Amino acid sequence: MIIIDGSAGEGGGQVVRNACALSLATGKAVRIENVRARRSKPGLMRQHVTAVEAACVIGNAECQGLHIGSSALSFTPGRVMPGEYHFAVGTAGSTGLVLQTVLMPLLLADAPSRLVLEGGTHNMLAPPFDFIAKCFLPIINRMGPKVEARLIRHGFYPRGGGRIEVDITPSPLQAIDCVERGALLGVSGHALFAGLPFEIAEREINVVRRDLGWSEREVCVRELPEDQGPGNILLLEAQFEHGTEIVSGFGQLGVTAERVSKKAVGRMRGYLESDAFAGPYLADQLLLPFSLAGGGSFTTVKPSQHSLTAIDVIGHFLDRRPAFAQQPGGMHLLSVG
Ligand code: ATP
Repeated sequence: MIIIDGSAGEGGGQVVRNACALSLATGKAVRIENVRARRSKPGLMRQHVTAVEAACVIGNAECQGLHIGSSALSFTPGRVMPGEYHFAVGTAGSTGLVLQTVLMPLLLADAPSRLVLEGGTHNMLAPPFDFIAKCFLPIINRMGPKVEARLIRHGFYPRGGGRIEVDITPSPLQAIDCVERGALLGVSGHALFAGLPFEIAEREINVVRRDLGWSEREVCVRELPEDQGPGNILLLEAQFEHGTEIVSGFGQLGVTAERVSKKAVGRMRGYLESDAFAGPYLADQLLLPFSLAGGGSFTTVKPSQHSLTAIDVIGHFLDRRPAFAQQPGGMHLLSVG
């Protein structure tokens, strides 16, 4: 059995999700010890439990130690069964992170699947739905499978209640190269809000217009039905010929709209100033599909701790371990094999 020290590297929930996904994809059993040991609330939290439960259901896996607060988990994979699944993260836990756990195994299954995921759709520290749909899935689709995601209802922390649907048509993952992002086709900024004053979103957009110089045509404020709130997110999008980046600013109690916006603006500026294909979040999320494809490459900014940790986890399961190499000018090239 593969043994992984869950406190190594970044040491977060992503180690657990990636390990379960890889276990199902490769058929290798895994034990994760010291789960999230260096977090302020160590062990599995509700959303990690839901993600692993989902992995157990789609993969007929057996799991020991699967409960909130657990610091050690043994996961024995079975046969991945494509089909129709409905998973609800009891709290506003991220639907995107549940998808992160089950998508790779279902992409490699022998028939299509449909997922209904309920919980948070725009959570801090997780990929917002828009990022999944516009940045991540188009690359997966270029690798062979066909995955379509629909947002049915927004869900923000703490209320949750969001819903997404995902249709997955599997196919062997082909190695692709995402080195150049091509010319900039356009930018846009959306400030979404629900059950909060309009003025918050307007102030966020004002910072985007002032600091990035984006025109009135390129930005908008969107009010969601009040019962989907309270919640607020600022999404900044840059669409290139070969890929799209979305950075987000999450509205938070006690943090001014200007600060939320400035953080997102700083991230977008950093991405626009680089020539990299993938931003830091997309990079860590592409490591699994690229490794399972057994080849391919992409350029990115400086590798995050999440990416380096994901590479270590991948190294436990696959012979072809991905590696970063620094390029002249500061960019990094990730290649597999
Ligand atoms: P922990 O609470 O232990 O830190 P977690 O389960 O909440 O863990 P992480 O281990 O931090 O999550 O993993 C978060 C995942 O969400 C990563 O894959 C990261 O790329 C992605 N992510 C976080 N923020 C964003 C964002 N703004 N846009 C896109 N993806 C994001």
